[in-house]
This record gives sequence, C-alpha cells and structure tokens, in this order.
Amino acid sequence: MEEVYRKREEGVLRPRPLSGTIGPMAIQGYFDNAATTALSPRAAAVWAGTASSYPANPSASYPEGRRSKERLEEARSSIATRLGVSPKTLFFTSGATESAGTVLSSLLWAKTPGDIVLGSIEHEAVLGWAPLLKEKGWNVITLDARGGFYDPGELRRKMTPETRMVCLMAVSNALGTVQPTKDLVEAVRSCGTRRPVFFYSDSVQALGKTGLDLPGSGVDGAGFSAHKIHGPRGIGLLYLKKGSIQSLSRGGGQEGGVRPGTENLPAACAFAEAVDELSPDDERRIGEINKAFRETIKGSKTKAVTPEENSTPFILALATPYPSEVAVRILSDKGFLVSSGSACSNNQRGKAEAAFRAAGLGDAAGNVIRVSFSRDTDPEEALQLAKAIAEL
Ligand code: PLP
Repeated sequence: MEEVYRKREEGVLRPRPLSGTIGPMAIQGYFDNAATTALSPRAAAVWAGTASSYPANPSASYPEGRRSKERLEEARSSIATRLGVSPKTLFFTSGATESAGTVLSSLLWAKTPGDIVLGSIEHEAVLGWAPLLKEKGWNVITLDARGGFYDPGELRRKMTPETRMVCLMAVSNALGTVQPTKDLVEAVRSCGTRRPVFFYSDSVQALGKTGLDLPGSGVDGAGFSAHKIHGPRGIGLLYLKKGSIQSLSRGGGQEGGVRPGTENLPAACAFAEAVDELSPDDERRIGEINKAFRETIKGSKTKAVTPEENSTPFILALATPYPSEVAVRILSDKGFLVSSGSACSNNQRGKAEAAFRAAGLGDAAGNVIRVSFSRDTDPEEALQLAKAIAEL
C-alpha cells in the first residue's frame, strides 16, 4: 500500500475513472435475463435516494441510526407483504448463493451427520456443497429430474429415517420447469423420519415468474436474488419459516444473527421497490412472446426443450443443431445475446450441460441454448431472434 500511495503522489499511478456509460441503458438483443436483468429506473432511484438520505448505520442507537433501521424494516415488511409471510421470517443476504450457503453450512455444525437429498438439476449454489458435506460424513442422496421435473413419488422412495434436509428448487434456471413444490413437501412430511426434515427451496427463478406461494407451499426455507427481477446485484433474501439458523459468519448480530454484517440498506430498499414493481401482467405478456417464439421455430432444426406445460414462460431452453457455444456465437454475431446455459457460473457450459443431462436430454444436452425474457423484452426483437434460430 505504501508503494501505491507514493506512486500516486508522484503522479505515476493515477486512479482511472470507471469506463462505460453511466445512466439507464438497455442492451440490445439481450435474451439472458435468467442470468441477470437490467436495474429498473424505479429501483435505481430508490437505491440512490436511500444511499444519500440514510447515511447512518441501522445498528446505531442515535436517531439517525434508528431512522435507517426503520427504513430497513419498511423494506422487509413491504417484501413480506408481497410474499405473504411475516417480516420476521425474512433475512437480507447478499444473494441466493449466500442464502443457500447459510442453510447448507448450518449442517456442518451437526454433531451426528445424517442424510440429505439434493436435486440433480440444482444450481451450483446448492450442489457445490455436496463434496464438503460428504467429507463431513453426510450421506448425499441425489433426486433425478426426468424431463426437468422432480417427482414426489421418487422423492418418497429416496427418503430414509435419517433424512434431515431436502433441497429442491422451485423453478429450474436451466430449463424453466416449475417444480411441484407443494407435493414434494407433502411427500417429505408423509415419510417417517427420526427428526424433522428441513425443506429448502431455491426460489430465485420463481419470484415474479410463476405464481409463487411461499406460505402455501410449506417449505422451511427459500432463497431469492434481487438482480433477477430488475433489482440491484448483491442483495437477496433468505426465508426461514421458523426464525433462526446457525450462521457460518460471526459478527454484529445483524439480521437476527442469520447474516451478521452491516446491512446493505440502499440495496434492500431497491429490492423492495423491484418486488413492488412485479406484476402478474408481465407473466401474461411474456407468455404471449414465448408462444409466438415457439410457433416461429416450429419445423426448423431447433426444438424447444422446455415443456410448454408447467414451465415459466420467462425461460426457454432449445436444442440446436450445433454445440451450444457455436450456436451462441452465431447468434451473437447476429446481435443476439443468449446463454449456453446458466451464465451465473464461471464454467457455464459444463454446469448447464450437466443440468440438461440430469433432466434426461442425453447427447442433445451439449447443443442446448437458453433464451430468457424479462418485462423489458421487445416482442418484435424476440421474433427476430426466433427467426435467426429457425435458420440455424
Ligand atoms: N439459484 C438459481 C436457481 C439461480 O438461477 C442463481 C443465479 O443465476 C443462483 C441461485 C445464484 O444467485 P446469485 O448469483 O444472485 O447469488
């Protein structure tokens, strides 16, 4: 650091301004909304307003601190109302990766490890814990997702008296398939286990994209990320039906100790704004875009992999005649940005292909691309992409 300061003073090292345009900006031809969405102007305004008008730490006991705390609780309550749950069950995290990690890492404290069921098409935020859990003596059991769906009957057969946790996502990020969460939870509850089983539902791709019914589903925990619904990056939620959990972090006890560390107040408020902006009308509109898209590619060499029934219209996986990265490059050359799977991991293709294989796609798994829409999607542009895909 000393060296850096010296060089700066000597003018050798000048801080460079961040590159790029500052201001609302849409990427043309963007069809990778399951990876992330553009920050909405309303959420951006709330973020900026809160960042400048609420400077105090919400944990501070003086009036300014209490004001920040009140604002944080307003954001929590607003989201809780939309989700139909109590604000006491919602804990702000940095995103769905941390939400899942908080739940799964809590198992590491268990004196006697047991069995855990992980779905085969889960995101790496969940599956990435399998090696460590195994190392710590947990018996990791995989639940297949034939055709992209978890089957409650199959789950019942995988349950053992020692099962302590089940992690099955609400909507697949790779395929868009909506899982029968309520039935899966019921399947778990109908099994005789030695201890209560914690059901975790990674619900990132469900928020705003399906009729998510958190209290009705009966899950014990769920994770969300704001940036998938036009909120800011780096803020998410962990829903815990029964209040608390053993956190991996230690600190100031914020978020009931579930997520210690100074709260990201501007991002939490912008997240609440993004949730408030969600409208069932978006799902209907995207449904029409999805339908027209499927019609346009009919008869071409590219086939829809995402089933029409029981899937969110926001995500459409397609088996192309080319290896996925080739198809992605061809489309990118034509000005369309799609994904070769789940762009939220570094090794995108491998992870997404694994999910497609796990869903029973066999060798076609390597040829699958993912097109994902948002309320910003222009129907005309979507049609142009469909035509370009039909020509592959
Ligand atoms: N779970 C699912 C289903 C996802 O789609 C993603 C991101 O794409 C995540 C978890 C991780 O979210 P984040 O990177 O915001 O933590």
